[in-house]
Amino acid sequence: MADTLKTLICPACGKEMEKVFIPSQGINLDICTKGCGGIYFDNREFKEFDEQHEDITKIIESLAGKTFEKVDTTQERICPNCGAKMVKNSTSIHKQIEVDDCYVCGGKFLDNEELIKIRAEYENNEQRDADILKYVYATVGKELDEVDKRHTEAIQNRTATQKLFYKIMGM
Ligand SMILES: [Zn+2]
Ligand SMILES: [Zn+2]
Repeated sequence: MADTLKTLICPACGKEMEKVFIPSQGINLDICTKGCGGIYFDNREFKEFDEQHEDITKIIESLAGKTFEKVDTTQERICPNCGAKMVKNSTSIHKQIEVDDCYVCGGKFLDNEELIKIRAEYENNEQRDADILKYVYATVGKELDEVDKRHTEAIQNRTATQKLFYKIMGM
């Protein structure tokens, strides 16, 4: 989806969000500069800003020197772009940061400072993915080994009759 031109209402604090043009990415972001400091990313915009080498100077500038209202980050949010309920997702296996994703239009809402925290988690997305794989292997891999072991044991524990049966059946 292309940049939305309409003014968005912040899903966290209800204030009008400000369109901030980010020249390095050529993207208009919706930032809650008058309310809670949250940022709304249209579909696919977020990946232009989540890695450490990507320039977020303009975003930081738009938020610098302001105090923001505290919002309840655990509350359910409604996508300001399409009106669907947003879903909370952890940004990594460490589950320290939760963002709100819209599965209907692909939008994403980050509370104040979450972008900085997300970028601090990993240098880039390859490292983020590698960490997930390591985690998946550590859990699922172990279970698979366990299944394998049980299977081997089951074969070893077959009775003489079973052995004969499986031999005939070619198993
Ligand atoms: Zn807000
Ligand atoms: Zn949406």
